[in-house]
Amino acid sequence: KTFSSLDIIDPIARALREEGYTTPTPIQAQAIPKILQGNDLLGCAQTGTGKTAAFAIPVLQRLSSRPAPGRRKKIRSLVLTPTRELALQIGESFSAYGRHTGLANKVIFGGVGQKPQADALRKGVDIVVATPGRLLDLMNQGHLHLKDIEIFVLDEADRMLDMGFIHDIRKVLAALPEKKQSLFFSATMPKEILSLAGSILHNPSKVTV
Ligand code: AMP
Repeated sequence: KTFSSLDIIDPIARALREEGYTTPTPIQAQAIPKILQGNDLLGCAQTGTGKTAAFAIPVLQRLSSRPAPGRRKKIRSLVLTPTRELALQIGESFSAYGRHTGLANKVIFGGVGQKPQADALRKGVDIVVATPGRLLDLMNQGHLHLKDIEIFVLDEADRMLDMGFIHDIRKVLAALPEKKQSLFFSATMPKEILSLAGSILHNPSKVTV
């Protein structure tokens, strides 16, 4: 398989070549077509498998091929991840793969000043990558809302539960619109994870690597 056989649009294919990516990893080869078709996805994959690009590439492509309604930028995709380090890595991936798409992302995490994050959100971004606590703080203060989310990604779900984020995740879920595409990634699939996945996903495609 090559990226061109996955029907990646030119602006993204070009960015992938610039990154030196030639061949999709197994999770990418399996997940990208399903996500591009608009399916919900349950992905069982660890870090290091190319999981980030497996969701970032099709999220960018879907947002590019359906221009945002209206002129002001709205948050159209949300990625929840457990740690600041992961959030920063995911944000860098969106910036790299999306550099020719014109789509902007912002990374939101706790432990640093809130004002620069609130200011960046006010200017408008298409994609937010966030840890749950700070996202809820900004939401509760009216700095962002999630009613325009088209694609929701829950990354490292098992680690999120281990870190005690379940209540925060449920609050975020409650703020998302009913109609959306949801992508759920976890390295392991214990009962609690499958039950959370079951409450979020509609008829998901399943991918395991
Ligand atoms: P991840 O599992 O998302 O943390 O990705 C692991 C590493 O693999 C990252 O450094 C990516 O830049 C790299 N990577 C992801 N997909 C590809 C690919 N198709 N070809 C080469 N490197 C990749």
